[in-house]
Amino acid sequence: MVIRRRKVLASISIVLALAALSVIATHTVIAAVHAPTMPPAEALKLLLDGNQRFVAGKLEHPNQTPERRAEVAKGQHPFAAVLACADSRTPPEIIFDRGLGDIFTVRVAGNVADKVVIESLDYSVKHLGVRVVMVLGHRRCGAVIAAVEGHEGTADQDVGPMLSELRPAVEASKGMPGDPVENAVRENVKLVMKNLATSEELAAMVKSGDLKVVGGIYDLDTGTIEMLKD
Ligand SMILES: [Zn+2]
Repeated sequence: MVIRRRKVLASISIVLALAALSVIATHTVIAAVHAPTMPPAEALKLLLDGNQRFVAGKLEHPNQTPERRAEVAKGQHPFAAVLACADSRTPPEIIFDRGLGDIFTVRVAGNVADKVVIESLDYSVKHLGVRVVMVLGHRRCGAVIAAVEGHEGTADQDVGPMLSELRPAVEASKGMPGDPVENAVRENVKLVMKNLATSEELAAMVKSGDLKVVGGIYDLDTGTIEMLKD
């Protein structure tokens, strides 16, 4: 009985030691990054509040004064990073009603995340203090339409880097009920969010709750953003 209890105690000690090591490892990784501009939940609220003002037509145009320009010329501490489509109708600074130095923006057709995009977002977190990263797809995305329409019969052809990046989303959404383009837009956002986690440090920060990676779909007609569930 005593021996058994000792064994149990030994097992518990090992589990606790491993847990402590894992916490230390996570914090060692996080300790190397820039201090947060603000906590993730607060940063996300700022983005969504700005979008509500945009939707309601009550824009405040914060941080767009010459004083702000002078302030951020000395250094930037954006509170959020947004990966959006290059589409001219989806500029993050406008649809979130923000100004200079607020959002670290990466824009590329189809809001795909190749290595350069991932590295850029990685930089904003590690070196600028960003603690919320939003992957923002949008409805009727031309890049996704091209990927969906061009998919059939091109499986073995070289379709170029953009369509190659979108192909996994088209594949993943194949056979789903509903509109193929809308489905592929959603799948693309989800896959891009997963791709961001290929950065070991970002993945550790997400796990510890220090960083939030969120996905949204922008509606061209209403200006609203539908947040995707985790
Ligand atoms: Zn687009």
